[in-house]
Amino acid sequence: MTMREINVFAELMLHDRLLKAIDQLGFTQPTPVQQAALPEALAGHDLIVGAETGSGKTLAFVVPMLQHFLDQPAPNTGTRGLILTPTRELAEQVCQAVKDMAAFTRIGVMTVCGGTGFKEQAAEIRKNPEILVATPGRLAEHLERQTLDFDDLEFLVLDEADRMLDMGFRDEVMAIINVCRPDRQSMVFSATLNHRGVRALLPEVLKEPKELMLNTHQTGQENIRQQIILADDDKHKERLVEWLLAHETFEKAIIFTNTRDKAQWLAKSLQRQNRRSGVLHGEMSQDERKHVMGLMRAGTINILVATDVAARGLDIQGLDLVINFDMARKGDEHLHRVGRTGRQEREGLAICLIDHNEWNLMAGIERYLRLEFERRTLKGVEGSYKGPRKVKASGKAAGSKKKKVDKKLAGKSGSKVRERDRKQVGKRRDGADGRGKATATPSLGDGSLPLMKRKPKPAAE
Ligand code: AMP
Repeated sequence: MTMREINVFAELMLHDRLLKAIDQLGFTQPTPVQQAALPEALAGHDLIVGAETGSGKTLAFVVPMLQHFLDQPAPNTGTRGLILTPTRELAEQVCQAVKDMAAFTRIGVMTVCGGTGFKEQAAEIRKNPEILVATPGRLAEHLERQTLDFDDLEFLVLDEADRMLDMGFRDEVMAIINVCRPDRQSMVFSATLNHRGVRALLPEVLKEPKELMLNTHQTGQENIRQQIILADDDKHKERLVEWLLAHETFEKAIIFTNTRDKAQWLAKSLQRQNRRSGVLHGEMSQDERKHVMGLMRAGTINILVATDVAARGLDIQGLDLVINFDMARKGDEHLHRVGRTGRQEREGLAICLIDHNEWNLMAGIERYLRLEFERRTLKGVEGSYKGPRKVKASGKAAGSKKKKVDKKLAGKSGSKVRERDRKQVGKRRDGADGRGKATATPSLGDGSLPLMKRKPKPAAE
């Protein structure tokens, strides 16, 4: 049977109990990533899959894992399946997907994440649920304290591996992989397959893997309209957001900021405007985050202001508007953000608000994604920034001040300017303090933000 011929779940020869669960969820056709991955995974192959959240990738690893456990029952063993995710929210979401799919089985699952009492968690683990969905930090802690082992592990999944590595979990992930039973089946999911860290990790995790590339930026997101609106500064952006929320038709919206402080500031502003809104960032407690997500899922609120870390991988039904209050610092991050909308063939709209500091970053991301954002102006709320006077072939502003500023920093111009410039080095462009996970220093990778340089004169702006 070839990949193309599979168009209904029944043809995959799945266990009746799984088909019943799929039926109960109302799914009739596998999504493209499921069509590609399920036959290979069910045949026992290791896989590396390039797929975004929203593509249906969770079922692509949950179904083969459950089928394997149903085919080969092994009562009273330890952990048989482990799914590693970068964030607690994603772990909760994946855990729920496992519960839904295992609804007609006796297979048990639990999350192992930080933010919950360690001892209580260890006691739960001792009850031997077959499947653990875990974030690397807390799981590594359990291994260190020997409150669990993976001697019986048969199935390992790294979900959003690129993100996990970007968040600095490489050592924990390696420590975990090293104690997993070698004769297991493994699958790695990543939004991009050309991530250097992920590539380097693959030989450690997978054996003769099949590589499947789906819904990456080359193939996906056709159903998302992507626009930019030029902005003068944060106050101006605040007015643009107000306008957009008042004039766009949307069911649910998410607004991304690059820092926790700005997320809080903007959320307060929206609350003053009596918008049904909430905020989600990495410094909130697990209970607070759960509460806000619950409100959003239930539709009690319909606008969420979020930082990247907190909103990673979240699947929110009905999300059709993404506003990037701050431009994402990297192309992949941008992809993850806009991937929140336009899911499962729904139309989505993603709007980036771009001030003069963000132009080059935006142009770099356009090049990386090989697309051109639609330029949009909002009548009545336009600012004075109209973009760079001249752009280079790369789309970036012509007349980069890089050299000039470097000279200044090297002490070749007036001392007053030099001193101020020195103070700017390493500072965030929004003046936030950079504390906390959600406010990581801008990195200088692909499409990333260079250090803020002072502009000698306002130029075209
Ligand atoms: P994921 O990319 O795994 O986060 O899935 C995104 C959304 O698609 C989730 O809400 C799933 O419940 C849903 N989904 C997964 N598989 C299917 C399918 N075959 N048909 C319709 N929806 C699906």
